[in-house]
Amino acid sequence: MTDCLFCKIREREIPADIVFEDDDVLAFNDVNSQAPIHILIIPKQHISTVNDVDTGDEPIMGKLFSVAKTIANQQGISEDGYRLVVNCNEKAGQTVFHIHMHLLAGRAMTWPPG
Ligand code: AMP
Ligand code: ZN
Repeated sequence: MTDCLFCKIREREIPADIVFEDDDVLAFNDVNSQAPIHILIIPKQHISTVNDVDTGDEPIMGKLFSVAKTIANQQGISEDGYRLVVNCNEKAGQTVFHIHMHLLAGRAMTWPPG
């Protein structure tokens, strides 16, 4: 997707503070962090929203969780805890239409979310 912000980050057309990368997944710091640690974890493959996930995407969707666990270990937040969020479409607050998992940590989280 040529005009997708996160595809452009994947292609290094837009700079980002990358904290993890492998063949399938990229993770980088959110530019507008909502917690002391706020990292976005994306599949390199362009999938717009959760509504666009199909059964063939199950391995990569599962991998987002294992990468979240790896990053949490690297950041030293596994025991204190962290929140993983995926927004789907406008009413949930999705603003970038390349599926991504938010990893938030470093402060107490409230429930319900806003
Ligand atoms: P969402 O609202 O769930 O679609 O999340 C999109 C996130 O992308 C927001 O938290 C933004 O702050 C973040 N964001 C937007 N542009 C960039 C960028 N260039 N680099 C890193 N994060 C970004
Ligand atoms: Zn994309």
